Amino acid sequence: MQPVASSTDLKLNDSVILIVDDEPINTTVIESLLAPFYKTHTTDCGENVLHLCETLKPDLILLDVMLGSMSGLDVCKLLKKHSQYNDIPVIFITAIMDQDDQNRCWQAGAVDFVSKPVYGATLLNRVKAHLTLKKQADLLKSLCEHDSLTGLNNRRFLQNTLDQNIRLAVRNDKALSVLMLDIDYFKQYNDSLGHQQGDECLKRVADEIKKSVNRPTDTTIRYGGEEFLCVLPDTDIQGAQFIAHKLLANIRKLNIEHPHATSGVLSISIGSATFSGHEAIDTDELIRCADKALYQAKHQGRNRCVCILAEPSFSF
Ligand code: GH3
Ligand code: MG
Ligand code: MG
Repeated sequence: MQPVASSTDLKLNDSVILIVDDEPINTTVIESLLAPFYKTHTTDCGENVLHLCETLKPDLILLDVMLGSMSGLDVCKLLKKHSQYNDIPVIFITAIMDQDDQNRCWQAGAVDFVSKPVYGATLLNRVKAHLTLKKQADLLKSLCEHDSLTGLNNRRFLQNTLDQNIRLAVRNDKALSVLMLDIDYFKQYNDSLGHQQGDECLKRVADEIKKSVNRPTDTTIRYGGEEFLCVLPDTDIQGAQFIAHKLLANIRKLNIEHPHATSGVLSISIGSATFSGHEAIDTDELIRCADKALYQAKHQGRNRCVCILAEPSFSF
């Protein structure tokens, strides 16, 4: 699993810059200035930009104002409306520089502009300054959304992702399952082997959960101390049962010695709640259902899963 990035880890030279200009001489000059330091790509067409954002994931866009059929200002406005791309900084490269033109650049959502003809040192310094800000913002977002011990996403990340996934499930009328996992007798594990070994054990369990739940749309979260949550879109109750059994088996296979477990090996219990997708359900209600199923699994003897259907009117 990727470790959570540290604050000294900005790696500016990994940055991807997209240069958009319909004059080949301009793209050649700009690219030759930036290519020794960054990963550069060019296009002469504003209509290509959204598609290139999807494939290249640029950290910065240098955008000509006067493009062909679609103006740079319109490209920028489109990007700023797009939830996935609105955090990519856009610097306009422009020959026109009266006050109204400058205002139009700011209003379109630019972070800066550089005037043509381009002066190399100014371009390089502006690019470096905005890339640093972008990378710092990315790092902060990543630190806010990950648990520092296990590297899994944290509870802050869960709220947004579960909300979005529930709305998507309702729109596509597809089931969604939430699995809540809790390590069995973990307090005794810590008490007998110490918290440091407890932390190592949490990391191994987290890694195994991450490996066992591997569709690109699945999310794994460290929910609390020794509690984890898996959000599985497009997964019905049979799918949830399959994954829950796989998780139970894979954690047992780690063969982590537990002095107080009946089998001598660390195990988990799982509560799973599946939402049909027919009608909207509240995120808290869905988690509450998974939690109650987990409680049943613990009550029935641990080292097992209980999988239930959660509907909006669900009650125990
Ligand atoms: P059960 O089978 O009912 O789940 O029993 P349990 O002992 O696992 O449950 P309980 O909720 O009583 O204890 C959870 C324990 O998890 C408490 C604490 O010792 C441990 N824990 C919580 N967070 C951390 C952590 O970050 N690191 C370590 N090492 N231990 C933690
Ligand atoms: Mg617990
Ligand atoms: Mg526990």
